[in-house]
Amino acid sequence: MAQCLPSTELIACKHPQLGRSNSSPWYKLCGSGRFSSPLTEPPTTFPPPTPTVPSHPVAPLTSSGRVPPKDAHALPGGIAPPSYSRKSGTVMQKKRPCPVLASFSVQCGQPHPTTTTPGCRRAVAASRTAMAWRAARSRVMTPLLLRQRGIASCIDPSVGLTEEQKGFQKVALDFAANEMAPHMAEWDEKEIFPVETMRKAAQLGFGGIYVKPDVGGSGLSRLDTSIIFEALSTGCTSTTAYISIHNMCAWMIDTFGNEEQRHRFCPSLCSMEKFASYCLTEPGSGSDAASLLTSAKRKGDTYVLNGSKAFISGGGDTDVYVVMCRTGGPGPKGISCVVLEKGTPGLSFGKKEKKVGWNSQPTRAVIFEDCIVPVGNRLGAEGQGFNIAMKGLNGGRINIASCSLGAAHASVLLAQEHLTVRKQFGEPLANNQYLQFRLAEMATRLVAARLMVRNAARALQDGREDAAVLCSMAKLFATDECFAICNQALQMHGGYGYLKDYAVQQFVRDIRVHQILEGTNEVMRMIVARNLLQG
Ligand SMILES: Cc1cc2nc3c(=O)[nH]c(=O)nc-3n(C[C@H](O)[C@H](O)[C@H](O)COP(=O)(O)OP(=O)(O)OC[C@H]3O[C@@H](n4cnc5c(N)ncnc54)[C@H](O)[C@@H]3O)c2cc1C
Repeated sequence: MAQCLPSTELIACKHPQLGRSNSSPWYKLCGSGRFSSPLTEPPTTFPPPTPTVPSHPVAPLTSSGRVPPKDAHALPGGIAPPSYSRKSGTVMQKKRPCPVLASFSVQCGQPHPTTTTPGCRRAVAASRTAMAWRAARSRVMTPLLLRQRGIASCIDPSVGLTEEQKGFQKVALDFAANEMAPHMAEWDEKEIFPVETMRKAAQLGFGGIYVKPDVGGSGLSRLDTSIIFEALSTGCTSTTAYISIHNMCAWMIDTFGNEEQRHRFCPSLCSMEKFASYCLTEPGSGSDAASLLTSAKRKGDTYVLNGSKAFISGGGDTDVYVVMCRTGGPGPKGISCVVLEKGTPGLSFGKKEKKVGWNSQPTRAVIFEDCIVPVGNRLGAEGQGFNIAMKGLNGGRINIASCSLGAAHASVLLAQEHLTVRKQFGEPLANNQYLQFRLAEMATRLVAARLMVRNAARALQDGREDAAVLCSMAKLFATDECFAICNQALQMHGGYGYLKDYAVQQFVRDIRVHQILEGTNEVMRMIVARNLLQG
């Protein structure tokens, strides 16, 4: 599948923000790819000891948070100390500068101490423990110390990239930190499809990353795309995963559509003025996608569609539907691909599904009842639809695996931070060799998965014969390993990892489905085994 992709320099011109150095607060605070811990800090011991720190003056509340006390206990960086809530058993912390942290603001339901009377303030101040103070100090100092020692460099996602790729990555990481991470928890909880944020991402060229520039795309390579999705996913995996599906649809139209179709659909998809959905799965055909039943009967210059699709990401909220339907006999050769627009008579949607994760994007059934589609909306020739669907999925598998990498990377950093801050048996968890080994394994698996994904992305870009099987291997390995990494990171957080105040649980929930969709990981094994055995 040789594609003629223009030079990435074009993109740097087209999207001036790509490739530029950026000094966002996320970088200043967290360094290269570094996350910090969430807002709700666990006490270093549980249950907490009786307060040992004497009554401490509580600083006044300002619009930017509490002003730190001006005495020996003041923390570096102007960051207010945490306060311990006896009732909830957690340490409460006012808003911190890191946007990633800010996405997990405390929802403890306790009245905030600084909003109460001076008497109450003294009582709350007295309840701060020495342990909590040390935890806060440690939390502030840890990123600085680790950066000095360069501990995170072994998992640094920018290693081995060109300067230009580092530029794309930095733009995406900044966007993730500033525009996505602060809202990640809210989008999940309230099931918000963040349309405006995605449109902002599109302004950076992320709406059609591997679509050709003449129709508004960024014309970047599959490897560049993987780097960008990995970075965005650190800010919100669910939203990034939807953006990746949207990109896949835009690429399918760009690659298999004729000139008229490309110019009709791609510009508004690349700008994300319109959003797209990929419609292959049906209630009766999941892994066996070639058995799909949605029929498209030719009637003059139109097709009449009848049938339904299940589990469609974005379904109901999106504008453009890339639909695989049966125009011929049974099997893959009877399948064609047509593009439908929302508002087409006969097109309707099922209820919004309630899901474990991926809550920032809706999932619905898409229903066709005598739905009339012009023949001019068919991509490619009749019978080519299954091939188009699978070609789209090759890239889709790299993209979804890249989203898993971002979640795993963030989770490793969250675990690393937690192990350093949390004390049990009188010392930081990080001193425990069992946990050290587990952390090392997580980092090793992350880097191995990243190498596999990037290798597959290069193979796809180069149009290599083994690209499809390498994409399947990468999807299988990366999504399995990254889920294990996120889950282990949650385990390292103990009970706190199970609380929604902590980012790690959302990464676990959001990437679980990556082992199921875009071909289950059992189907990935089938593809790899078939390749080996048929030789
Ligand atoms: C949140 C979400 C979003 C989705 N988004 C989309 C979308 O946008 N567009 C779209 O088209 N689809 C989408 N899907 C559908 C997804 O691709 C399918 O769920 C997936 O392909 C599996 O199909 P199934 O659910 O019917 O499972 P089944 O095919 O019924 O499989 C059930 C189990 O059996 C295993 N299995 C099946 N056959 C074999 C075999 N021969 N050997 C070994 N094991 C086997 C499977 O691996 C799986 O573990 C989405 C799904 C979810 C959950």
